[in-house]
Amino acid sequence: MTAVSIGIPVYNEEAVVPELLARVTRVIDSLPGGPHEIVFVDDGSADRTRQLLADAAWRDSRIKVVCLSRNFGHQAAICAALDHAKGPAVILMDGDLQDEPEIIPEFVRQYEAGYDVVFARRSSRQEGLALRAAYKVFYRLIRALSDVTLPLDSGDFALLGPSVVGAIKRLPERERYLRGLRAWVGFKQVGIDVPRRARFAGRPKYTTWKLIKLALDGICSFSIVPLRAAALAGIVAMSASLLFACYALYVRFSVGASPEGFTASLLVMTFLSGVQLLFLGVIGEYLGRVYAEAKGRPTYVVATVEKRERRHVERVA
Ligand code: UDP
Ligand code: MG
Repeated sequence: MTAVSIGIPVYNEEAVVPELLARVTRVIDSLPGGPHEIVFVDDGSADRTRQLLADAAWRDSRIKVVCLSRNFGHQAAICAALDHAKGPAVILMDGDLQDEPEIIPEFVRQYEAGYDVVFARRSSRQEGLALRAAYKVFYRLIRALSDVTLPLDSGDFALLGPSVVGAIKRLPERERYLRGLRAWVGFKQVGIDVPRRARFAGRPKYTTWKLIKLALDGICSFSIVPLRAAALAGIVAMSASLLFACYALYVRFSVGASPEGFTASLLVMTFLSGVQLLFLGVIGEYLGRVYAEAKGRPTYVVATVEKRERRHVERVA
């Protein structure tokens, strides 16, 4: 039986931390093998999250807290967890208990049965109707656009085996859409149906804008179809214009009249400038990402790591 690290990003989750600690520790207590660890990544919390976790790390040597120097965002925090986990198997889960830690033993069973990635498929959700519909549309859209087969309705809650962890860590990109990279690296993967619970306490830290950014990150990192769509729209516009030119010539020579319509021309002009600006924006999205990658700034910066040294415990004992 192998050792697992559970990586959990947290941002202003003081209301959830006590329950989270209790439930996750209960789960690793029940896991055979070891030594297991819990790696919390405090993503620049402004409340008591960091203090609560540091206290827990002091009480329990299996807990490590990686404190980032400011808020870098969920995906960056997950990457920090992945980088600081000893492994060899790493489980990533949200810190708001929407991902139930009690499912982890099942992940481990599948891993021991030979899978390199065991991910949770969200069989049901508690969010409002509009958000649920948006998630459904998004996952289907990105799957249709992407070159790799991205699993539907699955987030970052997963167990990653050592080969997958190694492969993901070696990827040089800074803007990471982890659930996509996980699918991209391949290996033997299996999804298990897990209901997505309501958040235990507190408010979601993903604002609508952050969700839209995540969706754009996902689409831009895994597809260039939006760029190609410009060419497609160009072909459609050119064909329409050619057809209309033929029609105008025909009317001119057979009937001797020219098509008229100031309003129609204005509409066509404004519509096509809209299409052009839209595609400029799409190119801008990709260019912005190329720029961000070219700068080569790290995904996150670590301020401190809170951990009670094992050595210290042994010396006291
Ligand atoms: N989170 C984070 N940094 C952020 C936003 C969120 O570390 O900038 C953490 C948050 O504390 C939680 C997890 O990421 O543990 C998922 O966030 P949230 O529940 O707000 O997202 P949602 O479930 O609404 O997608
Ligand atoms: Mg959540």
